[in-house]
Amino acid sequence: MKYHIWTVGCQMNVADSAKLGAGLERLGFEAVADAGSADVVVLNTCAVRQGAEDRAVSKLGRLKKLKARRPEMTVALMGCMVGQRTADLQKRFPYVDVFARPQHFDDILLALGSDPAQLGGEFWPETVSEPQGQLAYVPVIEGCDKFCTYCIVPLRRGRERSRPRDEVVHEVAALVRRGVREVTLLGQTVEAYGHDLDGRPDLSDLMGAIHSLPGLERIRFLTSYPPDMTDRILEGIAQLDKVCEWFSLPVQSGDDAVLSAMRRGYTVAQFRDRIAKVRSLMPQAGITTDIIVGFPGETDAQFASTYRLLEELRFDKVHVAMYSPRPGTFAWRKLEDAVPEDVKKERLRAVEHLQERIAGEINRGLFGTTQPVLVEGRGERDGRLFGRTRSGKLVHFEGTAAAGAVIEVRISHTSPWSLSGEVAVPAPAT
Ligand code: SF4
Repeated sequence: MKYHIWTVGCQMNVADSAKLGAGLERLGFEAVADAGSADVVVLNTCAVRQGAEDRAVSKLGRLKKLKARRPEMTVALMGCMVGQRTADLQKRFPYVDVFARPQHFDDILLALGSDPAQLGGEFWPETVSEPQGQLAYVPVIEGCDKFCTYCIVPLRRGRERSRPRDEVVHEVAALVRRGVREVTLLGQTVEAYGHDLDGRPDLSDLMGAIHSLPGLERIRFLTSYPPDMTDRILEGIAQLDKVCEWFSLPVQSGDDAVLSAMRRGYTVAQFRDRIAKVRSLMPQAGITTDIIVGFPGETDAQFASTYRLLEELRFDKVHVAMYSPRPGTFAWRKLEDAVPEDVKKERLRAVEHLQERIAGEINRGLFGTTQPVLVEGRGERDGRLFGRTRSGKLVHFEGTAAAGAVIEVRISHTSPWSLSGEVAVPAPAT
């Protein structure tokens, strides 16, 4: 039997698809790149923005034709498009055989007549995906308890649930034995890790436990949630050499009233304080953030506050999105999507232009420096090696090195989006 998984959305979805694939393979299924030749096709979807949902719907349109030709094929719709109630989805997509909420892998296995019990229970602790290179994602806490007013995630992924520390260590160790050199620990609010476990270990305790694994070179983590990012966690990870100085810390708005309408749970001053703490402990840290422009009621003055905050805090990267109401959320039910589309676009472009300038300036500051880069592979188009610095910068460079090696690269060209250079030649001994 052959399977094909199509994935859209965040790193958590990528990890979920890898886990499902690993489980199917343990049950004897074989992966194929083409949905047309698969016996089971899984669409792992995202509903965080309308655009992602539109892509899944267009994919479903193509699958409908395939299913008409091959009715014996099983079509599964998984991920954040699937909520508790599926009656609407069943009506829209009657040719889909099974609807599975995020990580509800068992629903798919049962539809295929397989026994999930063979795979070890919740989170399938014994099922480790085959790595696709030197980097791997490892979910450590699932769900979200924060209920930001615009966000569908808690309604789809449920409440926060941490994986036991030993289980995470076991999975990371298994990945390292298969050649992985860098793991990214995942959670929607990753610093919430452990609050629901006996002894309440926190993220720095978990990192401490995997830090000693021989062969593991680097540890990253995302996504951060400012109020959960405690001094204890930051001070703990600053002591761990393998934890990279790279943070994904969404601010969403630079205006307190908008943050309050979003129910983000912090003020601009509190967010600033977290950035200051990170930079005091790790001055070289790379920090990325997320911004939503055009949130219901966002005035020109409130957007200007966001713009000024970005100028002040100077992030390495900004992911900016126009607000789009997600059915089922508080904002969709109660707040009018009143900011006109052209104003949203204008604000989006303003952020993009500002960020291009800031990222260009930050990256120019790295010209002439030597950076340790973990080699991920060779670019198909230009044949150059590529990898990332500890602070998350993409670097292309000439030379010879094995994937997974950490190479010192001298930076000789910069742009707002990436760096390039060549392998640094060590100075002769005198
Ligand atoms: S913290 Fe807010 S934006 Fe992030 S997943 Fe949870 S509810 Fe969504």
